Amino acid sequence: VPELPEVETVCRGLNQLTRDREIEGGEVLLARAIAYPLSGDSFLAGVTGCAIAQWQRRGKYLLAQLTQSSQGALKSTEGILKNRGGLGVHLRMTGQLLWTTKDTPLQKHARVRLFFTENRELRFVDTRTFGKMWWIPPARAPQEIVTGLQKLGVEPFSTEFDSDYLIQKLHKRQKSIKAALLDQGIVAGLGNIYADEVLFKSGIRPDAITSTLTPVQLQRLYTAIREVLQTAIDKGGTTFSDFLNPLGVNGNYGGVAWVYGRKNQPCRICQTAIERIKLAGRSTHYCPRCQN
Ligand SMILES: [Zn+2]
Repeated sequence: VPELPEVETVCRGLNQLTRDREIEGGEVLLARAIAYPLSGDSFLAGVTGCAIAQWQRRGKYLLAQLTQSSQGALKSTEGILKNRGGLGVHLRMTGQLLWTTKDTPLQKHARVRLFFTENRELRFVDTRTFGKMWWIPPARAPQEIVTGLQKLGVEPFSTEFDSDYLIQKLHKRQKSIKAALLDQGIVAGLGNIYADEVLFKSGIRPDAITSTLTPVQLQRLYTAIREVLQTAIDKGGTTFSDFLNPLGVNGNYGGVAWVYGRKNQPCRICQTAIERIKLAGRSTHYCPRCQN
């Protein structure tokens, strides 16, 4: 399942590959992959003739700013690039955005195709079909259309995120810290894999009740969140899942996991066997000795 580092990797790849390119048309192969507008045809009508100005990541959402394509802009009297709204994507569990050519044979789970100039294509492939795409009309704010954006907490690399923020958000909560880290309304972008890694680096048990954590522990947690995510971004995402960047390449974070996916293997610090429990409905890995 793509988490913040994977989505950030996709975002960077899309900025390198698609920026300033024009969408010439497309094809919606699975209607429910489009969350807005209600019909695939309206979605395609919205994005066709637009160029990608810039991709941004917010939590696990990808948002592209669309402009009038340069061809269209030359025709307009102002000669400036006109705002044409946006394109939103959420990969959910198994979604992939692949930068390919139009003549590449369709994958069984191809859901949406966006055709670009020079025979290029951005193809949305999604086995489990939970992934979504949105066209955001020019007059609307992204969060009006992609409503999940309204519920997101702070970005872990933003200036609003610091240890005081964590203390303020967490000191009264009675749930496990693992559940708190998975809550996108507190910190945006953490999922199951990196939550386990962050808690190992912080020396905190995943089932610790959040309100019992000390300021010192929360300070360690804050530092670990940034370190773990930055390391994963630097390595281009994870190999834990079938994650692929837009060129179809798997990341290489797998070799450096501290606990995730390492049940019964020796802890990299103390050699104790890593344990796996079910917590917040999710498979959770930790070292019973290093984390307490
Ligand atoms: Zn250990």
